[in-house]
Amino acid sequence: MARSHYISGMHRLFTSLVWGVGLFCVFAFGVSAMPVVDSVRIGDYPEKTRFVIEFDKPIKFNVFTLGSPYRVVVELPEVAWRINPDAVPRGKRITGYRFGLFKPGQSRVVIDLKSPIRVANSFTLPLNSKRGHRLVLDIAKISAEQFAALQKRRPALMPSTSEADAVVRAPRPPIKKPKKRFKPLRPLIVLDPGHGGIDPGARGRRGTLEKQLVLSQAKELRRQLLATGRYRVVLTRSRDIFVRLRERIAIAHRAGGDLFISLHADSIGNRHVRGGSVYTLSERASDKEAEALARRENKSDIIAGVDLNDQSETVAKILIDLRQRLTKNDSVAFAKSLVSQLGKQTRMLRRKHRFAGFAVLKGPEIPSVLIEMGYLSNLQDEKLLRQPSHRRKIAGAIVRAIDSYFSRQQALRQP
Ligand SMILES: [Zn+2]
Repeated sequence: MARSHYISGMHRLFTSLVWGVGLFCVFAFGVSAMPVVDSVRIGDYPEKTRFVIEFDKPIKFNVFTLGSPYRVVVELPEVAWRINPDAVPRGKRITGYRFGLFKPGQSRVVIDLKSPIRVANSFTLPLNSKRGHRLVLDIAKISAEQFAALQKRRPALMPSTSEADAVVRAPRPPIKKPKKRFKPLRPLIVLDPGHGGIDPGARGRRGTLEKQLVLSQAKELRRQLLATGRYRVVLTRSRDIFVRLRERIAIAHRAGGDLFISLHADSIGNRHVRGGSVYTLSERASDKEAEALARRENKSDIIAGVDLNDQSETVAKILIDLRQRLTKNDSVAFAKSLVSQLGKQTRMLRRKHRFAGFAVLKGPEIPSVLIEMGYLSNLQDEKLLRQPSHRRKIAGAIVRAIDSYFSRQQALRQP
């Protein structure tokens, strides 16, 4: 007996060693196989601007332009970025650029331009004694009419897909019929860390990126929610990847969410303003600041270089609006309980609960709120939000608000 225990113990140890080594290899080779971007350079010439991206390996690419606002979008395989996001060079015609993961297997660079342009030339150069593999784009200024004509001639873009689409396409396990007298499912909370991948969101004064901060907060909140044993949790993204706004809503629907919580941390011009706030959906914003905030948050798709010309959403929008009214009361009730719980743990704005037209809150049937945890433009808020202990406290307050929301719902449903 003792011997067979020993052997099975050895066997287990061996098996886990083989697994461990195997996983390590997959990880190590997976990482090393990914091309690395070492640098980006911009050169201005009288007739063109040259944009050069340098890689450690040869790559394939695709490039196209978008209007309103004018952008050049470069599609790349999934690459690792070894360039400093703070050192964003600008050119005569280029106002800035972003890079990051757009969807699994695809990275992007989105270049913002002052005026209509065309990509006059795009080609790759091989490694030489001085430089690595390079992707070169020559961007030339054209008139608005020429730009419009070129856009018309361009073949329609493939509809943008994201992480969630990949999940949907994966074969689903057969649905088991629930047994009679089954326990009701625990409420499903959908956590939506804002931004991600090519959309960094706000940037703190000490360089904190909103996309990273809100992902950490969502993971902490998930941990605490699951620890109660009372909830199920789905995240709209669990890594540094871009997810379209309407896709975030679709994820919540496919999962059958009972509550949708979008997490953000904004940045504004006034460095003294600090404190958290909670937002619910309304076509008319409660105030100017709320309206401006919604405009900033709704820009995510533009930032990521998504073509918004294919939106045939008007009809769908009317249908959605009708059903939205029904969930609005629930959203407001949850927002109130959030404001009171968060207020016990963290500083809040004077007007704690506000309304505005956030695209991400437009999911019908699911009560939805957006939490701005604080201002990354304020040094004290940024410092607090970087502390895991502070994020634990905020998560604790949100869990208590969720508890009181569902106990109230239950009380309402009781005869
Ligand atoms: Zn945000």
